[in-house]
Amino acid sequence: MKLARFARIRIAHAPTPLEPMQRLTQVLGGPNLWIKRDDCTGLATGGNKTRKLEYLMADALAMGADTVITQGATQSNHARQTAAIAARLGLQCHLVLEDRTGYRHDDYRNSGNVLLDRLFGAQLSEVAAGTDMDAAMARLAGRLRDDGRRPYVIPGGGSNAIGALGYVTCALELAEQANNAGLAIDTLVVATGSAGTQAGLVAGLEGARAGIPVLGIGVRAAKAAQEEKVMQLAEQTAELLGVAGAVKREAVVANCDYVGEGYGVPTPGMIEAVTLVARTEGILLDPVYSGKAMAGLIDLVRKGRLRKGQNVVFLHTGGAVGLYGYLHAFPAI
Ligand SMILES: *Cc1c(COP(=O)(O)O)cnc(C)c1O
Repeated sequence: MKLARFARIRIAHAPTPLEPMQRLTQVLGGPNLWIKRDDCTGLATGGNKTRKLEYLMADALAMGADTVITQGATQSNHARQTAAIAARLGLQCHLVLEDRTGYRHDDYRNSGNVLLDRLFGAQLSEVAAGTDMDAAMARLAGRLRDDGRRPYVIPGGGSNAIGALGYVTCALELAEQANNAGLAIDTLVVATGSAGTQAGLVAGLEGARAGIPVLGIGVRAAKAAQEEKVMQLAEQTAELLGVAGAVKREAVVANCDYVGEGYGVPTPGMIEAVTLVARTEGILLDPVYSGKAMAGLIDLVRKGRLRKGQNVVFLHTGGAVGLYGYLHAFPAI
């Protein structure tokens, strides 16, 4: 794979640790559980968008941009990490935030990621749920260009083939860590939303013939749509890397049984997972992505689909700052 030829800004604290989760393993009584700590990428409380932004921001700079635009839900972790890296590079940052949940709680609208977006000096604009976000960003880019600025538009979640390169890098990093630890990984579990993370992982692992299967746990779309989205982006990423055709359709698997009522809407399984991992491992998950992905992992262990004797790695994609936007969802326990 021709990974090294792509421009990259080194900002993530990597390699992120690969650690055993001994107490959670014991409590669940199933497979050996490990955690890959991409919540510790170091940029503004970390998370998976940092690795994507290493490639996206390098591309923005190469194009002479002085401004970046991106979009997400109100409590977007991607928006927060983009705002932080833009501040660090001295670029103006515009965030178009979709009121996807309609929540009116003060914590949701002002705390968590929103507080940090403002601290990093980003310019926030809110649009109604269901808005065509790409069109909204294109309109904003047009206005900024009329004002003499040079905007670079980053898609939601940083999920295009350039952003996905960040997770090709992570795939290679994880494969090396597993080799060094003598760890044969049976399943890599990861939250999947805008699809760049899973697509990059699959492209990297398949491109390297690493033999590590990936299981995405969906947070928004239904299974068929999510797998289609991941597959398309994985194919584009493989093509960009010069290994077109490396990703077989069977390598793209998403389980979308843990979304609940919708994106960003808490579920009892998420609350249980966030609480259990906090109390067994001292690790913070998030309410929108990693909490639901872990709820899926826990349920699949209980159903015997992930079994004793197997080695399962959970990719922690970050987002714990979002907990402060969801105070209202956590019962006083
Ligand atoms: C964005 C995000 C994800 C999902 O990653 P995608 O590349 O959008 O699929 C998972 N976890 C957290 C915490 C995120 O912020």
